[in-house]
Amino acid sequence: MRNTVELPPAEITRQIVAGNRVVLAQAITLVESQRQQDITLAHSLITRLLPHTGKAVRIGITGVPGVGKSTFIEAFGMYLTQQQKKIAVLAVDPSSSKTKGSILGDKTRMENLARNPNAFIRPTPTGNTLGGVADRTRETILLCEAAGFDVIIIETVGVGQSEITVRSMVDFFMLLMLAGAGDELQGIKKGIMEMADAIVITKCDGENKKAANLAQANYRHALHLVSATDSGWQPQVLTSSALENTGVKETWKVITDYLEFTQANGYFNRNRQWQNRSWFYESIQSQLLQKIALSEKVNANLARFESEIMNNTLLPSEAARQLLTEVFRGSI
Ligand code: GDP
Repeated sequence: MRNTVELPPAEITRQIVAGNRVVLAQAITLVESQRQQDITLAHSLITRLLPHTGKAVRIGITGVPGVGKSTFIEAFGMYLTQQQKKIAVLAVDPSSSKTKGSILGDKTRMENLARNPNAFIRPTPTGNTLGGVADRTRETILLCEAAGFDVIIIETVGVGQSEITVRSMVDFFMLLMLAGAGDELQGIKKGIMEMADAIVITKCDGENKKAANLAQANYRHALHLVSATDSGWQPQVLTSSALENTGVKETWKVITDYLEFTQANGYFNRNRQWQNRSWFYESIQSQLLQKIALSEKVNANLARFESEIMNNTLLPSEAARQLLTEVFRGSI
């Protein structure tokens, strides 16, 4: 098969809509490229595919390393494929440049799901900026939708900024949590809990079952205390054992209830519109920063500015103003 880049755009579009995995994977690689000509091609491709996008359910799943994300997603994904759904899993791992890939490095993750013809698993390589990762993940979601996937899972490690970014690109956001020893509410920032449409307490089996049920009661109580979500939805707390395959069907039921609820009250569409708008503003910022970073005028003057700032002869905010005036002279 010829590389996607060499096919005429109309042919790439046709192949993706027909569900050709190889072409889809190559198109995602194109989206992930940093080369300007690839970015231009990727954007024109996605623009052609836009009429075929938007029909999937976009689900974000986060949780600390070891909570059981990949095991849960595998069980959940297998269940969905049994329901005749096609499922794509995109793993966003902004921490991997530091940790050498808590998501990407482990090749044994989701082995069964990876072999399933109705599932597609794709790690999103880290870029140097989270903004870049977000853009590429959003574009990859659109490609997967055009390729006919019904459910798209965006998995991220619950460390830092990434869950907020993922929240901004999904319809339903799930937090996986472990039952702790009495301090269940300590492990996670309150803000993240408030973003969740559901919390799933993992590993509810064997000796851990009692603690998981207790944690469920505690989180239910805690979530009742936080103010209502924008959608009007009351977040749900479930327990699951991916090993014993419990709580998987129930999780899907909660998601379909949520979809019904938010489609009826108009939130679902409104949320997607807002998400597109914030994507636009984020792109302005990230493209602006990239333009500045690549600017010859900036690079030619940076060292001089830095040394003046460090010697206290130039005010940093004034240096920034002068630099930007120089970059955009005559162009804005
Ligand atoms: P991730 O880092 O969040 O993706 O976590 P993993 O899915 O890799 O799971 C971490 C560890 O927890 C592994 O050793 C799994 O075998 C174990 N684990 C995952 N799910 C369950 C479960 O439902 N029950 C039990 N007892 N162990 C589990």
